[in-house]
Amino acid sequence: MPNAPVTVPCQYRTGKTLGSGTYAIVKEAVHIKTGKYYACKVINKKLMEGREFMVRNEIAVLKRVSSGHKNIVTLHDYFETSNNLYLCFDLCTGGELFDRICAKGNYHEPHVDDAAGLVRTIMKAVQYIHECNIVHRDLKPENLLFRTPSEDADIMIADFGLSRVMEEERFHLLTEICGTPGYMAPEIFKKTGHGRPVDIWAMGVITYFLLAGYTPFDRENQQQEMEAIIAGDYKFEPEEYWANVSDTARDFVSACLTIDPTQRPTATEMLQHRWLSDEKPHFVPDP
Ligand code: ADP
Ligand code: MG
Repeated sequence: MPNAPVTVPCQYRTGKTLGSGTYAIVKEAVHIKTGKYYACKVINKKLMEGREFMVRNEIAVLKRVSSGHKNIVTLHDYFETSNNLYLCFDLCTGGELFDRICAKGNYHEPHVDDAAGLVRTIMKAVQYIHECNIVHRDLKPENLLFRTPSEDADIMIADFGLSRVMEEERFHLLTEICGTPGYMAPEIFKKTGHGRPVDIWAMGVITYFLLAGYTPFDRENQQQEMEAIIAGDYKFEPEEYWANVSDTARDFVSACLTIDPTQRPTATEMLQHRWLSDEKPHFVPDP
């Protein structure tokens, strides 16, 4: 991989669109020489004007974490043309976790193997990212991708566009507001400084979503949503969606959703939680 983006004659042919996010369109791309398929994140330079540092940051972070862990998407190549910047990743053909949750309704605990297994895998990758002194800051089901369409495909953390390197935690507390409202931790809104714990909060929201099929802080408008997050105001309700969910799973969600970031457990601590550390599924037996 070159050290800096280079302008080269196009070596890839792009195909269908795989997804799009805030700043980019991601397209399937075939490397013409090798015939290998990749996912190519196409970033329009004009749209990013003044915010080019975000792409440089994404590349710098990816260089640090990708290829170091099998559940983090690998950046293979990057280059630019006069209009666009291109980041070429491993192609994940299994779609977003978001779409799988929506298609299934939820990962109710009779399928708890799936839910706890998925959360364990993602949490291990988060632990690795945190050990690399990176905070992801945009963990959500749209940024978690399955490597293949198979039911038991590996899940991959993608989109390091908002991530940050935290060299010395105490001196580099982040204060800018960023992320996707429903998954943002209270300390982000309070602007009291944030770091690794925001990813654990997001894991709590993701786990809630996996178990119930809807998110905990969904309100009529963003103001109410923010107030609910700051107050930690969520319930395991309506009951019909939670009847099959064990206390152990609920306790896992509650621990991730600890309002005070200094009291919130770390990724390593959450991996020791009974819901993840026991290989056996926990679900409420039929009466
Ligand atoms: P943004 O920063 O704009 O949110 P993402 O990196 O999240 O961009 O990419 C947007 C969408 O493109 C993702 O939500 C996903 O659907 C799709 N996508 C991203 N990377 C890949 C990949 N490696 N393989 C397949 N699809 C991908
Ligand atoms: Mg994204």
